[in-house]
Amino acid sequence: MKICDLCGKREASLSVRQLDKEGRATELAICAECAKKRGFTSVEDLKKNAAEILAELKAKVGEQDETRVCPRCRLSYADFKKSGRLGCAECYRTFAELLAPLVRRLHGSVQHVGKGRQRGRKRAQERLELARLRAELEQAIQDEDYERAALLRDRLKRAEGEGAS
Ligand SMILES: [Zn+2]
Ligand SMILES: [Zn+2]
Repeated sequence: MKICDLCGKREASLSVRQLDKEGRATELAICAECAKKRGFTSVEDLKKNAAEILAELKAKVGEQDETRVCPRCRLSYADFKKSGRLGCAECYRTFAELLAPLVRRLHGSVQHVGKGRQRGRKRAQERLELARLRAELEQAIQDEDYERAALLRDRLKRAEGEGAS
């Protein structure tokens, strides 16, 4: 069951997949109530407005950050920020749009900080990348997309290797 991205309360009835600039799929799901409020009647309507909605969601992410909870392991985003650790593969998807700007921030700020902090940030970035790969791998296996799973497994292995060195 998917929860509506807009209200975060009701079960979603429409969903579309959007590709971001890096070619990663983000799923946008909204419930009938929210769809009606916005005058959407079909997946096509949602698709047309997806970019706008995603931008809107990003803008209000700040408000919901702390209270968002992974449906599988019950880890909250506040807990994640404290520990820097994701509880399960589902976490990545739960917090995906919260993590995306964080990753960008990590990328963007690396050159401006001192060596020690730079290493810390790099590690945090690698942890996120690993979490992302694991989540994608699990998803690929669930989808029985073994070709993609094999590819992801290779990338994961490489990423883990880099993290260890
Ligand atoms: Zn809704
Ligand atoms: Zn989780």
